[in-house]
Amino acid sequence: MYNENKECCIIDPGCYFPEEETMLRDYIENEGLKPVLLLNTHCHLDHVFGNKFVHETWNLTLHVHEKEKPVLEMAPISAKTWQLDFDNYEGELIFIREKRPIKIGNEELEPRFTPGHSPGSVSFYHEAGGFAIGGDVLFNGSIGRTDLPGGDYDTLINSIQTQLFTLPDETKVYSGHGSVTTIGFEKMNNPYVKLY
Ligand SMILES: [Zn+2]
Ligand SMILES: [Zn+2]
Repeated sequence: MYNENKECCIIDPGCYFPEEETMLRDYIENEGLKPVLLLNTHCHLDHVFGNKFVHETWNLTLHVHEKEKPVLEMAPISAKTWQLDFDNYEGELIFIREKRPIKIGNEELEPRFTPGHSPGSVSFYHEAGGFAIGGDVLFNGSIGRTDLPGGDYDTLINSIQTQLFTLPDETKVYSGHGSVTTIGFEKMNNPYVKLY
């Protein structure tokens, strides 16, 4: 997302191949954006591949939840099991804390702690924009898997009910995978966490 000054944050850069890095850089340059923040909702491989590239290209420090640090450190080992070469981000970490808004100029993202898919998953709520970026917590018609290390089904359902379903119904949810949805639609239709 970006603000009126074209300052943007990059969340979960999944770029792995050089072509994907070029695509991200071209997009940012063509739009005239200035990346000012690097955030991870959580640190599964497909969400952290591009951390190092973004760090080196725009000199940004990675923000993650403290409980996600071990997952980030595991990433090269996970990559090996997929036979992928992977250069992990090794810079400093800034820990995301609940109730401490993340600022992009005058814009604010509210981090909401939503563990269950991963132990330190966070979702970012932008109240003024009416949207949330939920990582792999809640999907259009589905929820994140809970069989990976640190995952827990009941914790995930509780995160969705207390941290996401408490947002206004019209809030758009951009997930790590799949199409955009809304809180209201998922409350009515999501088979895993149906409220009504
Ligand atoms: Zn994930
Ligand atoms: Zn994912």
